[in-house]
Amino acid sequence: MDLTVLYRGPLVSCDYDCPYCPFAKRRDAPEQLRADRAALERFTAWATAAGEVGDTLSVLFTPWGEGLVRSWYRRALVELSRLPHVRRVAIQTNLSCRTDWLADADPATVALWVTYHPGQVRYERFLAKCRELSALGVRYSVGVVGEPGHLAAARRLRADLPADVYLWINAADGRTYDDTEAADWTALDPHFGYSRHPHPSGGQPCRTGESVISVDGDGTVRRCHFVRPPLGNLYDGSYRGELRARVCPLPVCDCHIGYVHLETLPLYDLFAGGILERIPHP
Ligand code: SF4
Ligand code: SF4
Repeated sequence: MDLTVLYRGPLVSCDYDCPYCPFAKRRDAPEQLRADRAALERFTAWATAAGEVGDTLSVLFTPWGEGLVRSWYRRALVELSRLPHVRRVAIQTNLSCRTDWLADADPATVALWVTYHPGQVRYERFLAKCRELSALGVRYSVGVVGEPGHLAAARRLRADLPADVYLWINAADGRTYDDTEAADWTALDPHFGYSRHPHPSGGQPCRTGESVISVDGDGTVRRCHFVRPPLGNLYDGSYRGELRARVCPLPVCDCHIGYVHLETLPLYDLFAGGILERIPHP
């Protein structure tokens, strides 16, 4: 089986304080951090063993908070990247962490989905981190939330990033864009159109629940992060018998980590080779 797994454990804490985020500056109590670490290590052990039954895996960590300031996420990326049956291991991150640990990861497999949060980090510091990733040969995309106040910073970033690094723009939650505003963002991200409006998904075929699953810290398997009824559990194998072609039960899908898997959109071709870390095919 060739499976794509989106993993989201109990971690909610973040070192940033973004005004548009419910997890800003949240703290995890020590026992919550221990539970998150134990859950991640259990998942990593499962992913390691998946090779023994002939499965290949692609993994995206999508923590609520910031994972890479925790040693266990860094270790999971390094360890999983070195396994021959892991085709890709990626994480969504604000890139506040150091980058030197990535030298131990396999650059052919590891990847970062980086979000730049103007106002939370000095521009020069963030750009320097991106350049460190490029120097290490790490695959990464960089994105910005399409708030009007971010436009100047996003333009500056596009101008300064290496040309081969994709800059994506996410439509801000609850914001609509007139054509002039959309044109501004599309000038930076030619694929902004996919984020601008939620995608009507009800009744449309979606690869989640067949070749893509979402897993939480307890091992509960769902088809995606947005459709709540469970398919089973990862650790007792009960999800496997539930994997089959499915249509979406929700009216719309408005998050890239979901709609990228909609079969009605051409995004598996557009992002071929970089679906999880959101890197378009060159
Ligand atoms: S970096 Fe991400 S998780 Fe942290 S506060 Fe900002 S949006 Fe939220
Ligand atoms: S279209 Fe989106 S919400 Fe619907 S099943 Fe797929 S990922 Fe989930």
